[in-house]
Amino acid sequence: MISPSPAPVVWTRRPCIRCHNGCFNFSKANGTENMQSLGDSLHLGRCALNPPTMQHNRYKIVPTKHPKKVAIIGGGVGGMECALVLKKRGHTPVIFEKEDQLGGLFLTASAMTFKENDKELIAWYKREIAKAGIEVRFNTEVNDLGTIRRGFDEIIVCTGSVPRTMPQIKGFDKTHSFRELLREKSVEGDKIVFLGGGQSSCEAAYDLVLAGKHPVIVEYGNDLVAAQATCLANTSFLRDAMEYHKVPVYLHSTITEIGDGYCVIKTPTETFRCECDAVINGIGFVPAPVGPKAPHVHRVGDCVAIGNLRTVIWRAWDVCMRI
Ligand SMILES: Cc1cc2nc3c(=O)[nH]c(=O)nc-3n(C[C@H](O)[C@H](O)[C@H](O)COP(=O)(O)OP(=O)(O)OC[C@H]3O[C@@H](n4cnc5c(N)ncnc54)[C@H](O)[C@@H]3O)c2cc1C
Repeated sequence: MISPSPAPVVWTRRPCIRCHNGCFNFSKANGTENMQSLGDSLHLGRCALNPPTMQHNRYKIVPTKHPKKVAIIGGGVGGMECALVLKKRGHTPVIFEKEDQLGGLFLTASAMTFKENDKELIAWYKREIAKAGIEVRFNTEVNDLGTIRRGFDEIIVCTGSVPRTMPQIKGFDKTHSFRELLREKSVEGDKIVFLGGGQSSCEAAYDLVLAGKHPVIVEYGNDLVAAQATCLANTSFLRDAMEYHKVPVYLHSTITEIGDGYCVIKTPTETFRCECDAVINGIGFVPAPVGPKAPHVHRVGDCVAIGNLRTVIWRAWDVCMRI
């Protein structure tokens, strides 16, 4: 007899996304020693998503004596975390989101087939925002903070980032974004070349491998995911997965031209034409805050500096505990 498939878990507690960026904060690339600061790595057992874990003296909810109305521009993880912390403290947050749903860039980050925990995290946030009765104004883009300043005591800008561009690469405008590849699924084809070999590219390439496709990675540096801030448990897995699945990886390399159905790859020893169906812009993101810095205007998340959920959530607490 075929047993019925189990009902999906509905998390009442914040689901763990297995990022290991708080609990096991070590980072390695190309045989280096731990790249994280030692002071940071020594504090094992903390949690990227729950700042009070093992840091309860630093991160705590203290009810406010002066309740305020706070506008939050952007409903990504940064904006949602700010709203929840402020609400717990007794403030009245209102989220302004230009799209028709909450989640921001993490909708793209969690779109890969193997990121079920990440999808659960977004679902958890949406439920918590609804349960707390936090007002969200969808389809509302705010670019001039002056238009909302009068109705609010404080403003928190959580508008995230935009993809970095490299116009010096001929045909760069033909690249596709992670959003198009992962969330909108509008990139077609089998052989997909990633310009840049960071965590996002490696995860997306792994997702393509699982779908039977043939990604290629072109990385300027000397290793994949050669950056601080992503735990070695996760980066080692990604590097091993690329090797195991025989994904062509070109290190110390770049793309010099992108055309219809091809790109030109330049390695230290040769420059060659690579037939491909699409090139993905994997060279990163740049912060995109709106409005000038001003008193009573705060910034949280990738709009301050590109990071991950640990930097986004911990900063949300740092800012919201002071309001
Ligand atoms: C492919 C990929 C995989 C990733 N994987 C991970 C991972 O596994 N673990 C991890 O920790 N991090 C991961 N990250 C990084 C993580 O997704 C980001 O650090 C995080 O989502 C940023 O959150 P944020 O709230 O600062 O910004 P965003 O999520 O970008 O949110 C900004 C929000 O503001 C809205 N907005 C923008 N401008 C306006 C405006 N003018 N008015 C109103 N609304 C506006 C946007 O629509 C958006 O909803 C990944 C990133 C990518 C690209």
